[in-house]
Amino acid sequence: MDYVFASPYARVPHPSYGGAKIPAYEMIRFSVNIMRGCFGGCTFCSITEHEGRIIQNRSHESILHEIEEMKKLPGFTGVVSDLGGPTANMYRIACNSPEIEKHCRKPSCVYPGICENLNTDHSSLIELYRKARALPGVKKILIASGLRYDLAVESPEYVKELVTHHVGGYLKIAPEHTERGPLDKMMKPGIGSYDKFKRMFDKYSKEAGKEQYLIPYFIAAHPGTTDEDMMNLALWLKANGFRADQVQAFYPSPMASATAMYHSGKNPLRKVTYKSEGVAIVKSEEQRRLHKAFLRYHDPRGWPMLREALIRMGRADLIGSGKHQLIPAHQPAVDGYQSARRKNSTPVGSKKAGQGGKILTQHNGLPPRSHDGNAWDKREQAKAAAEARRKAVAGGGKASGKNRKPSQRPVAPR
Ligand code: SF4
Repeated sequence: MDYVFASPYARVPHPSYGGAKIPAYEMIRFSVNIMRGCFGGCTFCSITEHEGRIIQNRSHESILHEIEEMKKLPGFTGVVSDLGGPTANMYRIACNSPEIEKHCRKPSCVYPGICENLNTDHSSLIELYRKARALPGVKKILIASGLRYDLAVESPEYVKELVTHHVGGYLKIAPEHTERGPLDKMMKPGIGSYDKFKRMFDKYSKEAGKEQYLIPYFIAAHPGTTDEDMMNLALWLKANGFRADQVQAFYPSPMASATAMYHSGKNPLRKVTYKSEGVAIVKSEEQRRLHKAFLRYHDPRGWPMLREALIRMGRADLIGSGKHQLIPAHQPAVDGYQSARRKNSTPVGSKKAGQGGKILTQHNGLPPRSHDGNAWDKREQAKAAAEARRKAVAGGGKASGKNRKPSQRPVAPR
């Protein structure tokens, strides 16, 4: 890997883009890939299949050299936006025995629990972070790649290092669900691992004197997910004060085991026979929308559908304005449902449409949403302010962005 990364890359978009702003490029231009591969084996993801389960690592020298090269680029402000890869914290982590590793056919080293043969030593990664921070001209190193938190809790020193120096206010992690049924089909750890990590995160943030938040991501409609599972997830979100802004619904993608579940209705993680267990599959448009509505339990546009479903499920007790109830019984006047994708798209005939009706995007002409690398915060602040204005108009209340409880901060899009 060191050889490949030592090639004299231009580190700029292809000239055919001209001067266009490319959001994906803005996101990665000051980030460094430190490894390839993943031994997580999450069934909805195919990284393990196409990058391999045995991690390939770059040397410290190669990574530090790349940061030195990055410092010469125009626009570098001293902030490295990521030191990561498919997973933030699998760097130099491997099976204790290369011989066993070579022959092992388990699809994951961390499911259903961390394999006893896995060496979970994070010391090389901690050392790398320290060396990178010490480089002259580097002000901040952020870790933006997804964190395998069940692995991270095996090294409190790593969590402390990460939380103290490498979190820019928010840390994205992906429990994906709270219920055992879908989690088993995803090959993900139980929500107990999330709780353990959150305790460590809060403790070290407090010790560092920083106000920082975890942003958990969840998947709706994954194979193996029932309506009851989604209802329980919604209750967990409400109890923990999370309000998902945009949500991700499972979509079958090439090479992922969950895709085989989706199409066959069987579980390929076990021997498949004509007698083997069936997997609950969420395929109909109506049920997919219901699962998304559970994730966005706070959105009034989904409440009619949720009320119907809760009554059908025999859980009408969750309808009402009590603290432990999920949605209110009354329905405020709201617009019809519109998907986030449609809401963000450019309507035909809009002024944003270019010559000849060509739709402009940020790739081919629209200005970027923000130039300063802090777009997420700005978008969230704008949304919080708009929400406060809406509440003030609707109820004559005093809600404002400042008055929002931290726990009610929206969950970011993936
Ligand atoms: S023995 Fe365990 S740690 Fe080693 S490769 Fe297999 S699952 Fe991974």
